[in-house]
Amino acid sequence: MPELPEVETVRRSLAPALEGARIVSVAVRHPRLARRNESPADVGDRLLGRLIHRMGRIGKFLLADIEGDLTWVMHLGMSGRIELAHPDELEKPHTHVVITTDREQEMRMVDPRTFGFVAVYTPEELADSTIADLGPDALDHLPRSPVWVRRLAGRRVAIKTLLLDQRFVAGLGNIYADEVLHRAGIRPDRPAGSLTTEEIKRLRAFVHPILQAGLRWGGTSLSDLTYLLPDGRAGEYLHRLRAYGREGLPCYRDGTPIERTVIGGRSSFWCPQCQQ
Ligand SMILES: [Zn+2]
Repeated sequence: MPELPEVETVRRSLAPALEGARIVSVAVRHPRLARRNESPADVGDRLLGRLIHRMGRIGKFLLADIEGDLTWVMHLGMSGRIELAHPDELEKPHTHVVITTDREQEMRMVDPRTFGFVAVYTPEELADSTIADLGPDALDHLPRSPVWVRRLAGRRVAIKTLLLDQRFVAGLGNIYADEVLHRAGIRPDRPAGSLTTEEIKRLRAFVHPILQAGLRWGGTSLSDLTYLLPDGRAGEYLHRLRAYGREGLPCYRDGTPIERTVIGGRSSFWCPQCQQ
């Protein structure tokens, strides 16, 4: 599932292509992808003919400011990806949304499992949507550690589960949360409220470096290659992961085999030696 570095990588490749372009046609071929609007037809009706101002992002959501005070929202779900293509290029299977601009370019959303979505919201609809519930973006607005200390106090939920809670901080998912916990030397199943101030500072301090490293390598494409960059290349951070997906392989720090435990319904990879 694409997380913050993957979505930010997509945003950075889409921005120069889409910002300042006008939308000349919209095709939603699978109505499920437009399910977040009251009527699936809203997506096409609202985007057609409009100018795209700015391509932004909060957490794992892409948000484009559109002429007419509208916000175009995209989420890649479990298996979605976005391609930029010339209208003459053949479409990949599972291309469910195609948005063409006056630059003879198509933005195509490919999503075999259809958990992703495209929506176009008025300011009121945006304020009522799940986006309004998102916490601060983990890359752009990561809260300082005193805020973390206050918000973790007394919490019995596992720290891993809290890191995945998009209302706490937006953008971390299973891969990067495991990496951050491993670097910080904290067990993923520790109750959030049991972390010392020192541990909280350490944990917070690793969020940016890990996300930045993910970005530098174009994100993480797992072996299923569901996530690819808009130009079709794979993100290469997979080979840099130290915890996620490494069950049974030696910890880089101390050689102890990495363990896999299910926490809050999600696989967590961690080292029983250096994560306490
Ligand atoms: Zn270790």
